[in-house]
Amino acid sequence: MRILITGGAGFIGSHLCDALVASGHSVLALDDFSTGRHENIAHLEGHALFSLVSADIGDEEIVRECVAAADRVFHLASAVGVRLIVEQPVRTIETIVHGTSVVLEACARYRRPVLITSTSEVYGKSSKVPFSEEDDLVIGPSTKRRWGYAVSKALDEFLAMAYWHHSRMPVIVVRLFNTVGPRQTGQYGMVVPRFVQQALRGEPLTVYGDGTQTRCFCHVKDVVQALVRLMDYPAARGQVFNIGNAEEISIRQLAERVIALTGSISAIRMVPFEEAYGPDFEDMQRRVPDLSKIQKAIGYAPRHTLDDIIRDMIAYYAEKRGPHALYQAG
Ligand code: UDP
Repeated sequence: MRILITGGAGFIGSHLCDALVASGHSVLALDDFSTGRHENIAHLEGHALFSLVSADIGDEEIVRECVAAADRVFHLASAVGVRLIVEQPVRTIETIVHGTSVVLEACARYRRPVLITSTSEVYGKSSKVPFSEEDDLVIGPSTKRRWGYAVSKALDEFLAMAYWHHSRMPVIVVRLFNTVGPRQTGQYGMVVPRFVQQALRGEPLTVYGDGTQTRCFCHVKDVVQALVRLMDYPAARGQVFNIGNAEEISIRQLAERVIALTGSISAIRMVPFEEAYGPDFEDMQRRVPDLSKIQKAIGYAPRHTLDDIIRDMIAYYAEKRGPHALYQAG
């Protein structure tokens, strides 16, 4: 099968390229390299089953050509990371809203099955934990830049569902919870790569707020397997699914775990949110997925624990740092 992956050079997109090429599919990755990186897909370049188009998902003509050439589409291209979202709010909204609209229009035109990646951010400040797909979305005010990301992704979901209701266009929406793994960078805010790199360098781990906020981290390999299996499951069309791992940990405990697993001498530094992200920032206190829907649909159960995830990240960054790494995994 020929498969188009928008955002194919990104962190999750590149792992999806690997999985699909390994199963014998022909993969076309579309990426504008704003946050995607050549090194994520360098090992695939020259492979007979892999090709790359370097373009923006806002480019209607190119997106139409790519969609027309594909049997199925995974739409992953997006602005990513809390840091980038608060620093570039206009670009964030435009990329997410316009880009997804272009992709959906092209998929409707050629009637291609498409999977749209949304985010657990859409649950916003909801205190009804765990979050399940039919829950209300509780979004903060428009004066706080972070919510522009959640609202844009929610709009993508509404547009996808509108196509489904209008013409039964085969579309699946997934809400990705915190996803972690090799190739993820801490540059755009993501906490696990940041903590692992700080620990390997012997620098303080920067815990934002009071560190009691919790998250659930899922290995990118579990996420990618879920994406592939949902696409292969016709009854998933017209539906929304959470993808993640329900193992909950506070950010303070996460920092302690990373220090323990690296054997680092690093201390923990508490950083007020205002210092990290500016004055109009709001964080979510708890974010836990209800996974019963996807479990029932495709038998999904994440295989990697949080310790597996942290160890994988330590191995990845220790190897990148080379023989001069201060601390080794173990
Ligand atoms: N965080 C932190 N230190 C960092 C980066 C992030 O304490 O250096 C916190 C952040 O404030 C949030 C959690 O870790 O409470 C997860 O942040 P991330 O940006 O990875 O994902 P989010 O769940 O906020 O989208």
